Amino acid sequence: MIVLSYTVLNNLITQPHTWLNRQMGLETVEYGYMTQGKENHKIIQAHLIGAKRDPRLERLNGLKFTTVETTEKDKKTLFTRALDKKYSIKTYMDGFNKTQFLEIKTGNPPMPFSKFVRSYQRKLNAFIAPQFKEAVLISATRDLKKITVYPCPLTEKDRAEALEWVKKGIHIIENIKQFRKEEGRCQGCGYGSQCQYT
Ligand code: SF4
Repeated sequence: MIVLSYTVLNNLITQPHTWLNRQMGLETVEYGYMTQGKENHKIIQAHLIGAKRDPRLERLNGLKFTTVETTEKDKKTLFTRALDKKYSIKTYMDGFNKTQFLEIKTGNPPMPFSKFVRSYQRKLNAFIAPQFKEAVLISATRDLKKITVYPCPLTEKDRAEALEWVKKGIHIIENIKQFRKEEGRCQGCGYGSQCQYT
């Protein structure tokens, strides 16, 4: 079974040759801003379940998420959906309750709602776990001083678009010999110094 995630699909749709790096077992690189993002996730998640309140996050107090990720790749937040006998897709949610899943994004500038609405990560999560009716984006600056909450309904159109996007990725995998290394993208590519091409 080939298990695909948003990151793997996004990499191979953006630059198909990244699939070859993955097949060689190369690890992606963690950049400094990613480490900080993970720390911010932990702070927000601990606040949401009341494990450790942070005064910067008071405006989140009305949110009710019964489950949040408490370790990296936390199995209690793992959702999978099989597509056929060969492929399935997985995601680790930042958190969830009965009807909503949570997505936390921190950055400078913070992610605008319009970008979240367009994002295939949101649509893919909606497809993998159709029991959720709404996504909630917590978007904040890296210092967590500016923080906004955006609820976003999940639709059948989102799920249909996610499935088409997944099929596009699988088409690339199935025809990978046609996809050679092309110029471009290296900046921000997850493989960075691990890449076999650079
Ligand atoms: S670092 Fe550049 S060449 Fe290597 S996988 Fe990423 S985009 Fe491709």
